Amino acid sequence: MIELNRRQLFAGAATVAAAAAISQCEIPGAEAGVAPAGAQAPGFYRYKVGAYECTSINDGARSFPMPDNFVTNVPKAEATAAAEAAYMPQGMVTVPFNPQLINTGSKLILIDCGNGIATYEPTKGAVGRTLMNLQAAGVDPKSIDIVLMSHLHPDHTNGIRAADGSMAFPNAEIMVPAKDWAFWMSDENAAKAPNDMMKNYFANVRKIYAGIESKVTKYDWDKEVAPGITSIATPGHTPGHTSFVVASGNSKVLLQADVTNIPEFFLRNPDWHVVYDTEPDLAQQTRHKFYDMAAAEKATVVGFHFTFPSIGHVEKDGAKYRLIPSAWNPTI
Ligand SMILES: [Zn+2]
Repeated sequence: MIELNRRQLFAGAATVAAAAAISQCEIPGAEAGVAPAGAQAPGFYRYKVGAYECTSINDGARSFPMPDNFVTNVPKAEATAAAEAAYMPQGMVTVPFNPQLINTGSKLILIDCGNGIATYEPTKGAVGRTLMNLQAAGVDPKSIDIVLMSHLHPDHTNGIRAADGSMAFPNAEIMVPAKDWAFWMSDENAAKAPNDMMKNYFANVRKIYAGIESKVTKYDWDKEVAPGITSIATPGHTPGHTSFVVASGNSKVLLQADVTNIPEFFLRNPDWHVVYDTEPDLAQQTRHKFYDMAAAEKATVVGFHFTFPSIGHVEKDGAKYRLIPSAWNPTI
């Protein structure tokens, strides 16, 4: 058995580096080697739910300096400690984004569609990659029948527009939660927006849906909104925030959207309030109810803001919860 302590490990690394330096000196042109790829692989991952083939489509991930009020009801030091415990970049929060594509055999349904316009900044991450990753998965945006929104925040809904402002999924019916639509489209609510973030949310919904308002289908909770896909009430994050049960045969998964934002914070600490929640106390109640149910059922849970491919199981851990990510499966 080889025992390796910290000193040997770093000494070993130094030796390897020195050897590499020497060999590069000795062999002319050796530094050319193989050029690094310099870019990430496409982000899509397939899994089955009964007869349905589902694909987790990565829209990207963004790192940003942790705002002072990112968690509104605990001191910032506690939130910073949670970020450090999750090995996020120093002083930063990293939030991933993962829409889900469901192929029922008769319909192709995209649940949430990401941030829209693609941005790539090495220190901050890259978002707006849904179209690119759909293409990598061999999916033509024109073949998508339904785009189903969990709620109307920009990171979930802005991807309905391509970079030139045209509809990214030109043949798709766009379905939104009736309660969210009523909330965000109300001029009375917009006038009461308590801060710039909320003002921007109201303005964004109006901008993204400008000209297509009458074509949008509004759906209610506890309805089969598409074949095998049932809308379930998980309000609090927004008034109409919706999760989905995708069921086929004896199999099902729970698509939880933003019941928790990043699990390292709000699934570990279900009583913490993220700054983006419209009704934080209700969101907290929803979290407990949803995860108690998911843990009791040992249900597979897909989270829009879980680390790609964003699939796992939730266990109860005293008054908290923990996420057990599913292992990469080379077969489907
Ligand atoms: Zn979100």
